[in-house]
Amino acid sequence: MRIEEGIKLGFKDVLITPKRSTLKSRSEVNLKRNIHFKYSNMISSGIPIIASNMDTVGTFNMAVQLSAVNIITAIHKYYTVNEWRSFITHVPHDFFDYIMVSTGVSDADYTKLKKILSLSPLLKYICIDIANGYSDNLIQFVTKIRTKFPNKIICAGNVVTGEMVEALLLSGADIVKIGIGPGSVCTTRTKTGVGYPQLSAIIECADAAHGLQGHIISDGGCINSGDIAKAFGAGADFVMLGGIFAGHNECEGKIITENNDKFMLFYGMSSKNAMKLHMGKVAGYKTDEGKLVKLLLKGPVKNTVLDILGGLRSSCTYVGAREIKELNKRTTFIRVLEQENTIFNDGTLF
Ligand code: 5GP
Repeated sequence: MRIEEGIKLGFKDVLITPKRSTLKSRSEVNLKRNIHFKYSNMISSGIPIIASNMDTVGTFNMAVQLSAVNIITAIHKYYTVNEWRSFITHVPHDFFDYIMVSTGVSDADYTKLKKILSLSPLLKYICIDIANGYSDNLIQFVTKIRTKFPNKIICAGNVVTGEMVEALLLSGADIVKIGIGPGSVCTTRTKTGVGYPQLSAIIECADAAHGLQGHIISDGGCINSGDIAKAFGAGADFVMLGGIFAGHNECEGKIITENNDKFMLFYGMSSKNAMKLHMGKVAGYKTDEGKLVKLLLKGPVKNTVLDILGGLRSSCTYVGAREIKELNKRTTFIRVLEQENTIFNDGTLF
């Protein structure tokens, strides 16, 4: 056993200091970014935010709405090949720039992935996603997928330390997904004692990835646009959001009504709810690592998108970043013991 003494930080432990700038208005800020990948010849040119591949959030309907504002959706892995086929025959060409095909690492996942990708050469992103990216399975699967699909943009995770980021990039991933335990409906940290504060994970993993011309996605833990700005400020190339996009009309959670209020169920992909839904039961050797919550129905996702993009533009103007890409260079974090004045939080009307 050994203890690493250096303190690791989460979003709530820091704020970004303002810096002098020549920007006159938030409208001057460009949130789009061109990203060239390590292996794939393809380019990403939208807003580097991704809706999570959770089964209630990473839906086809979500992708239709978010692609219209140049945001990516990681489509969840539970749609059948036929559902994929009938969906993608009706979408415009540029839609494919904003969807990722998610997969696990089993043989069945591999077979299904090949079938989905064979539906259209325009599908360009593959998101290989397992809860514990430290498993040797992931490295082997990434190597296999890179060999089979040399030109696709491959993203793989989740991990939280630099040496695993390097290992995944050297195995063939273009992008590594970072985050163990920060998610809004995740209970991994309490169930297992394992995790890594997200801000430090981003800073350390970005350093490892960028040294090898790779990229990272910060996955989980953002509860507002300030956190998204901090994730970009820390060095994330993309930020993946679950809870912020959950509970909207475009999601596929069950809706329940209580006292005339409508709620949508939202749950972790390792929750009892998800395991029963997709596997029929919780296997005897496992425990759940996710929660089930009910969210007051939030309406169309486009309002939330406007709100978070407005917040991000404002973060950029506070530090003088004309482009989202500059946010990292212009960020100085200060460690803090307080974030906001909470006195009227219980009575906030909107
Ligand atoms: P959020 O944006 O809601 O804070 O985090 C979303 C992320 O949480 C997802 O993209 C995924 O990586 C992670 N996640 C989703 N479901 C679960 C779960 O049941 N357990 C754990 N440990 N993580 C989850």
